[in-house]
Amino acid sequence: HLGNETIKAELGRASWKLLHTILARYPEKPTAEEREALSSYIYLFSRVYPCGECASHFQKLLKKFPPQTSSRVAASQWGCHIHNQVNARLGKKIFDCNTIAEKYQCGCEDDVGAAET
Ligand code: FAD
Repeated sequence: HLGNETIKAELGRASWKLLHTILARYPEKPTAEEREALSSYIYLFSRVYPCGECASHFQKLLKKFPPQTSSRVAASQWGCHIHNQVNARLGKKIFDCNTIAEKYQCGCEDDVGAAET
């Protein structure tokens, strides 16, 4: 169904946006608790993601590419890489992970160089 594909794509875009933004704001030097929280969040996300086909494929990807939680750079590069794995499977363009830091901002007070509107 075209309608279902549109909804699935919208859910995907929203989910990736949230995930990459979380990773872009993740501490540069996370504590053990923060590392555990991120790792749990990602594994739980893969279990509750409402597109079943997407979730089961993502769980397989997590086995191959476990979440990297040691630093902001490690986590955001991991996120970019795993999204690229999904892109490749879906025949989409591969994203240049060098540009990831500028792309995902949260509009939070402490955002350096956050886009003004
Ligand atoms: P998206 O892939 O949604 O990307 C949104 C935007 O993010 C892009 O426009 C680009 O600006 C940016 N971007 C692209 N690549 C990267 C990257 N590597 N790192 C950072 N930013 C990037 N759909 C299916 O049909 N089948 C599936 O099995 C499937 N599995 C999914 C699993 C997960 C965990 C998620 C979150 C989504 C999944 N989707 C799946 C949805 C799919 O990934 C897309 O979100 C959807 O097809 C819409 O694609 P899009 O071309 O608009 O861009």
